[in-house]
Amino acid sequence: MENTASRLDEVRERIARVCKPARREPADITLIAVSKTHPAERIIPLVEAGQRVFGENRVAEAAAKWPQLREAHPDIELHLIGQLQSNKAEEAAQLFDCIHSLDRVSLLTALTKAMDKTGKRVPCFVQVNIGGEPQKGGCPISELPEFLAQVRLSGIPLAGLMCIPPADTEAAPFFALLAKLAADHGLQGLSMGMSGDYETAVMLGATHVRVGSALFGARE
Ligand SMILES: *Cc1c(COP(=O)(O)O)cnc(C)c1O
Repeated sequence: MENTASRLDEVRERIARVCKPARREPADITLIAVSKTHPAERIIPLVEAGQRVFGENRVAEAAAKWPQLREAHPDIELHLIGQLQSNKAEEAAQLFDCIHSLDRVSLLTALTKAMDKTGKRVPCFVQVNIGGEPQKGGCPISELPEFLAQVRLSGIPLAGLMCIPPADTEAAPFFALLAKLAADHGLQGLSMGMSGDYETAVMLGATHVRVGSALFGARE
């Protein structure tokens, strides 16, 4: 139980440590504790240790777990970090405070409709398929300018860019590329970095790091 709290201290410390050479402020980096697959009793110690921003990758799992946890702590922020089907856009817009996986026109249309209906404006990161991997979600880099223009026209709050670099390769070049794309388009937010590479991501400008196993241990 106390394990997760001490891991939280360690992750925060590491972020603070890398902020120095990067000339950044720890307060400018949002640590998203990725709690997917973990039950409420594993999450509560982190909430008690002061963590307030959590990430889930499935709408149904989040809907089952979080409403109760949030009742006790209304200041908790919940981020959707996984792929989203258009038919779940409305449920996602109600449940989450931020969506990191906006990557195509059909989803943009569904989210716009959902937010118009609920009246809740949920900031969205545009996910970029930074490694050009066909099996992965994310907007192709070549289509990014056009897609960002459409997002801006829709009126959905645009939080920035998000990526998941290819597995088993050095992530830094992909983080640097995402940072350049964001700068080219005048975007501040950069959702990048997971348990294995969040320090590198912070060094390269991440504003949001998504950390799961470094906090909760390995998933089953
Ligand atoms: C699961 C997941 C993470 C967290 O991964 P860890 O390696 O456990 O830190 C981050 N981002 C996304 C999109 C994920 O699906």
